[in-house]
Amino acid sequence: MVKVGVLALQGAVREHIRSVEECGVEGIAIKKVDQLKEVDGLILPGGESTAMRRLIDKYGFMDALKEFAAEGKPMFGTCAGLILLAKNLVGHEPHIGVMDITVERNSFGRQVDSFEADLAIKDVSDNFPAVFIRAPHIVEAGAEVEILSKHNDRIVAAREGQFLGCSFHPELTENHDITAYFVDMVKEAKAKQLV
Ligand code: GLN
Repeated sequence: MVKVGVLALQGAVREHIRSVEECGVEGIAIKKVDQLKEVDGLILPGGESTAMRRLIDKYGFMDALKEFAAEGKPMFGTCAGLILLAKNLVGHEPHIGVMDITVERNSFGRQVDSFEADLAIKDVSDNFPAVFIRAPHIVEAGAEVEILSKHNDRIVAAREGQFLGCSFHPELTENHDITAYFVDMVKEAKAKQLV
């Protein structure tokens, strides 16, 4: 059985683990760098990207996260996690910097800090109840990036091979379709490694 880790430095970790388990695989809260070896895929949760970055550095995660990506293992960044994955950030240095996208933070305007929207997400759902909280969006996507969803003409979900990212918080709803999509990515990547 595949195991999916959730980076547990900050943010809605428990909810992601529950969602992973609803998809029939084991979810593990990753609190120590060594635990990354145990998992086949990793979710980077929402929260606050600059705070999460400080904790990544404090606990020595950065090299291990880059290595995890270099090994071809799937990574799913949600909200702040999407910011961590992006190769480019508007007005800020990148963090892990592995997904070929440019992301702008807090980009839906101050007057609407949080909102919900029903999204069509390609290959995932026709009607996904997405919760946006001080959400970023993808302003530019590289040639290899597949755009999976837009909201008001802004890219809010995308995939580039092993990397999946979304602007919203899938773990805060009872719909596990996008988590299931990621779990399938992890199963496929693991099956390829075994042949
Ligand atoms: N605004 C946050 C950031 O810049 C992300 C918000 C979230 O993860 N809900 O990191």
